Amino acid sequence: MTKRSIIFYWLLLLIPTAVIGISAFYMLCHEQERINSMEISAAEDKANAIASSLVLTVENAQTGLSDSLHNIPEKQRIDILAEWERTDPLVRNVFVWHEETGLEYPVAGSITREEERFLKRFNALFTSRIPWQMPAMENPREYSEKTKDKTDILDYRKSISNLQNLTQRSSSQDNSDGNWQGDIITKSGWIPWFDENRLYMLGWVQKSPGSHVYGIELEIMTLLSRIISVFPPSDPDGIVYVLLDGNGKILHQAGKALIPAGREPEYLVSLAPALPHWQIGVYMLHGRAGQSGRGFIILSSLLLVIFLAAIILGGYLLTWHAQQNIKDASQKTSFVSSVSHELKTPLTSIRMYAELLKEKRVKDPDKKSHYLQVIVDESRRLTRLVNNVLDFSRLEQGRKKYHLEHLNLVAHIRGIMKDHLVRFKEAGMVYDDRMPDQDIYVEIDRDAIDQVVLNLADNAIKYASEGKEFTLDLKTSNSFCQLMVMDRGPGIPAEHWSKIFNKFHRVDDSLVSSKPGSGLGLSIAQRIMADLGGEIRYEPRDGGGSCFVVEIPLQA
Ligand code: ADP
Repeated sequence: MTKRSIIFYWLLLLIPTAVIGISAFYMLCHEQERINSMEISAAEDKANAIASSLVLTVENAQTGLSDSLHNIPEKQRIDILAEWERTDPLVRNVFVWHEETGLEYPVAGSITREEERFLKRFNALFTSRIPWQMPAMENPREYSEKTKDKTDILDYRKSISNLQNLTQRSSSQDNSDGNWQGDIITKSGWIPWFDENRLYMLGWVQKSPGSHVYGIELEIMTLLSRIISVFPPSDPDGIVYVLLDGNGKILHQAGKALIPAGREPEYLVSLAPALPHWQIGVYMLHGRAGQSGRGFIILSSLLLVIFLAAIILGGYLLTWHAQQNIKDASQKTSFVSSVSHELKTPLTSIRMYAELLKEKRVKDPDKKSHYLQVIVDESRRLTRLVNNVLDFSRLEQGRKKYHLEHLNLVAHIRGIMKDHLVRFKEAGMVYDDRMPDQDIYVEIDRDAIDQVVLNLADNAIKYASEGKEFTLDLKTSNSFCQLMVMDRGPGIPAEHWSKIFNKFHRVDDSLVSSKPGSGLGLSIAQRIMADLGGEIRYEPRDGGGSCFVVEIPLQA
């Protein structure tokens, strides 16, 4: 796999992943906006519903009182009104007034301080400066739209000081005072009145033109306690509904959530004309998105991140695996060509010398015995190579069998080396035996230890002949004995110390590439030693060269 094809595959994976990621993220943001707007419109609907039921409550109270006013008999009017004032919590003040004679009740001289304030409040009406019946009021809907804007509210408040709600009723029933017959026109209405920025409400009735106007002033606090009961409990999503008076002061709030000082409501619904300037305010205290929306967005983003990470990780693993496979394949190819080369060289020598001997062209007995020795050596080398290859596949499949023997290790290794001394000599190397002259017995497989020692000796001849030295040393400890196989060759670069024991691994330099090799010898030696309960490792040798330490357990 070339670098370019890797980049190409990654682009193939990353571009669609990025497209999926970006579009999913865009859709999530869009979804969040949708959830937000749904939540806002749900809160607005709820505020409108609350406003409607508040207005209905006020109107019901006003209608009930208007009906009761209408049904008061004329002769007992003052007594009944005075009784209401005393007993009905909705009634704050009462009055009876006539256009010509002025105020009949409360009578000047015997009035309380509250009545005094009441008369002062509505002085403009009682002195006929303002008519009881105003021209038709503005369209309530228009008014409601206007109140959405705070500045409009203030402007409008100035112009509405005697806003009047008129009802004209047609009555065909006999009145209880008996003076009314047939169809009569009764005028009545509710006048919202602002005094010192507070809302007051005056309900009045005039049964016939030119007759007395009488009525009551509503106790706004009692009305407030009634409309509060219509308020919903607190909203778990952090949406708080409040009732605001004309000054923007919170008169009531659903729930106990703390509203930060100076914060404006997100949405306002006017309660005009029933309660002019009063409004329902909506605060969204947990940001624009509610808990449920946020939870959905967090979960979806998490899933998106996991999905994208899985794609990228999967792609990375596939690329890594493909690279590993390609590396393995190229190592196997080079292994096959190295093995063929290693087989070809000894076979050529064997055939050449065998043919010479067969044709009896060599007369010199020394030469004859030299040629025969070459044939023996080369066939041994072939055997070792074939053994290595066979052992490698057995070790890979875990099929290698060991026959442990009680062996004098020093004597055995000296025996092996004796058979191979001539090879060191031919390579121009001196064999230095530093092993102690004592018997050290181990439980070991004879062929296995031969294979390990000969692989190390072969490597020294192949890669370290220029150092002209090959040394064996042996030390014992309590449970192990250590065989040190040393040379004065070029040594192995630090970054290859652990890798040289991997199958097919060869140091990539000019010396190694000029020598035949399969990259199997050390890997086989390591597996054999692990199977026998020991180990093999590389250590750089003081003064230059390599030192392979073979640790063999004293007890099997
Ligand atoms: P091979 O010798 O067939 O290549 P080995 O597994 O025996 O395979 O050795 C692995 C590699 O370790 C060699 O290719 C060589 O690069 C390095 N090596 C092994 N022994 C020595 C040594 N004595 N001196 C220098 N390099 C060595």
